[in-house]
Amino acid sequence: MPELPEVQALVDFLAERTSGLAIAAVELASFSVLKTFDPPPSALAGGPVDGVSRHGKFLDMDIDGIHLVFHLARAGWLRWSDELPKNVVRPGKSPVALRVRLSDGSGFDLTEAGTKKSLAAYIVRDPREVPGVARLGPDPMAVDFSLETFSGMLASRRTQVKGLLRDQDFLAGVGNAYSDEILHVARLSPFAIAGSLGTEEVERLYAALRENLSGAVLAASGKPAKELKDAKREGMRVHGRTGQVCPVCGDTVREVSFADSSLQYCATCQTGGRPLADRRMSRLLK
Ligand SMILES: [Zn+2]
Repeated sequence: MPELPEVQALVDFLAERTSGLAIAAVELASFSVLKTFDPPPSALAGGPVDGVSRHGKFLDMDIDGIHLVFHLARAGWLRWSDELPKNVVRPGKSPVALRVRLSDGSGFDLTEAGTKKSLAAYIVRDPREVPGVARLGPDPMAVDFSLETFSGMLASRRTQVKGLLRDQDFLAGVGNAYSDEILHVARLSPFAIAGSLGTEEVERLYAALRENLSGAVLAASGKPAKELKDAKREGMRVHGRTGQVCPVCGDTVREVSFADSSLQYCATCQTGGRPLADRRMSRLLK
């Protein structure tokens, strides 16, 4: 799933490619992908693209005051084309869910692989009409996102820091991959309770959050949409690297599995050398 750095790179990419252009048409190949009905997609036709921005992991195209907002979710992606095929996309024939045609013949498809459909698009007059956008916590890359702000947010939370970092209502833009990376940089256990972190631990977490994300934004920026997924994977230290060597200490990267996801961490760097209980493994060993 694209997270803040990849979404930011997609925003920059789209802003550059759509600058000075207008929307020719928005075509729906999957009716379930569009979560709103008013304004209709036809309302966007002919409108100039006034800007592209990001709210957490949501992309927002401002088309003459109407917003096309979309969230790529787990298996969604944006496929850019300098010259889109002329034929109208047909439902059920391809992974294409929504096609945006621009006035110069270029444009992009929102695609979704697999059967679990969670790609979502909205056409609204105000991005805050999108429930997921309205609920978003602060953006960790915002200029005013200070250590004091972050420290205050963590203080009252009796939940595990891993879950909290990827909770979009708490903090906008971080998902499963970057939360693993940030916790590894901060040398904190994913299961540490947020409200119980000491001052120095909170400082480490804040620094790791800002440094890791800004580094990833820098690495992703300027890359074309099709290269972003590989670039993200290559930049990871522990996420998705179970069984490989921790680049910091040489220990083996470990994993904890859940029903629909898994986390990776280094025991030496993050949990004082003690492996975390993996509920799936404990069940097998009973
Ligand atoms: Zn390590």
